[in-house]
Amino acid sequence: MPNMSFRKNKMPVQEPSLRSKNFDEVALGYTLEQAVDEAGRCLNCKNKPCVSMCPVAIDIPGFIAKIREKKFKEAYEIIRQNSSLPAVCGRVCPQEVQCESRCVRGIKGEPVAIGFLERFVADWCDENLKQVEKVVEKTGRKVAIVGSGPAGLSCAGDLAKRGHEVTIFEALHAPGGVLTYGIPEFRLPKKIVEKEMENLKKLGVEVKTNVVVGCSVTVDELFSQGFEAIFISSGAGLPRFMNIPGENLNGVYSANEFLTRINLMKAYKPDSQTPIKRVKRVAVVGGGNVAMDAARAAKRLGARDVYVIYRRSENEMPARKEEIQHAKEEGIIFKTLCNPTRIHGDSLNFVDKIICSRMQLKEPDESGRRRPVEKKGSEFEICVDCVIISIGTSPNPLIRRSTPDLEANSCGGLVVDPQTGLTSKKAVYAGGDVVTGAATVILAMGAGKNAARAIDKYLAELG
Ligand code: FAD
Ligand code: SF4
Ligand code: SF4
Repeated sequence: MPNMSFRKNKMPVQEPSLRSKNFDEVALGYTLEQAVDEAGRCLNCKNKPCVSMCPVAIDIPGFIAKIREKKFKEAYEIIRQNSSLPAVCGRVCPQEVQCESRCVRGIKGEPVAIGFLERFVADWCDENLKQVEKVVEKTGRKVAIVGSGPAGLSCAGDLAKRGHEVTIFEALHAPGGVLTYGIPEFRLPKKIVEKEMENLKKLGVEVKTNVVVGCSVTVDELFSQGFEAIFISSGAGLPRFMNIPGENLNGVYSANEFLTRINLMKAYKPDSQTPIKRVKRVAVVGGGNVAMDAARAAKRLGARDVYVIYRRSENEMPARKEEIQHAKEEGIIFKTLCNPTRIHGDSLNFVDKIICSRMQLKEPDESGRRRPVEKKGSEFEICVDCVIISIGTSPNPLIRRSTPDLEANSCGGLVVDPQTGLTSKKAVYAGGDVVTGAATVILAMGAGKNAARAIDKYLAELG
């Protein structure tokens, strides 16, 4: 008999008052009993509506059935057929708009907690099983991967498992892309990414950090070094700004810079080489996951008042509902229907105020969301000593500029064949945010897997 409870098993979490002062993971994970009980809520639907909403089509009822039988290794193997990073996706996938959005249990209650179950299986296997990768015959073919985010990691792993010699070139001093420098420890512990890197190294993948492709070495130079195919997965790390007066004042950061200083450079430690000045009142501009991460990280750095300033209402916020809820519990103050018009500085050019207008929503614009329009004469100010701009990012043009035969669209994304990831240049493939613009981990990972299949086929055809 299925478990007909209307509600999901709750995810145990750290208490808000405690967690807002530390960087440890907020969600603590299901116990074995909770996972088996939650798995009992799945009705094993014949037409699998949940699977149609997973970008990589994981056999969701299949892996959940194995959890019910307590066959966790088999559940893991089912997930791994389509996903290289289950411990990551179980934590950060926006399940409420993907797999869980079509779960039939969601019609009269809450959907099955697919993400929590995926995370449980990945963590259980990590703790209880030793992973042994099969030894494969080497092909002698060399592939270069540019960037070590989820797209690059999944492409590298799949190619190495097919026997190819893979080298990842990463611009930063640590691999992992946004998983390392963007998403904070309290949502995605870095040991999970480090484990992924260890597994790749065991497969023979070489990782060269501090190499900026397009600057230290060009795509064409990589070919002359003997690489026969290249996968570009350099992400979309170029921050956008509002172009309002005061954005160049001291104490204004892009969210990417702020989070990189904290996650990668450990700015919260007294001996960090890239510290963040002690901030007390912080304004974060934007309403996506990145804005929530920046606001919650600022709180953990010791800020007393942290505001999220967003020009539409909470309904339109692109951040995951769970992240908004967690941010509120931690005391983040939401200023919705507000738009900054300028940032004011003191006599030493340090931020001291952000000036905003109140907004109202009109008819939907081309994005389908209601258009925010300024209410005349509604300006007000908030005293702050730090402003973090989190209104989106674009692909960095460095590689494109140094490789003129790579075609890009008007947003700066590389143009590729959607099936294979092949760019306009022979033997150069691309995927992830560098193609789509800022998107999700699972989409980047899926693009890496697709490209690996196409690159493998291309290399086989070389004879
Ligand atoms: P990235 O992860 O950006 O990796 C690209 C890598 O390439 C980086 O390491 C970069 O240093 C490197 N690189 C760039 N240029 C060069 C060069 N010229 N030479 C060599 N290396 C280079 N998605 C979700 O699904 N859920 C979430 O909760 C979520 N939260 C997020 C929170 C934050 C703060 C951010 C910034 C993003 C978040 N995302 C989330 C989005 C998600 O992380 C990205 O869509 C995903 O990481 C894209 O993967 P990628 O491999 O394409 O690129
Ligand atoms: Fe859901 Fe993401 Fe897992 Fe797919 S990968 S089943 S969307 S949590
Ligand atoms: Fe199970 Fe929900 Fe998928 Fe049906 S839709 S198979 S209940 S997870």
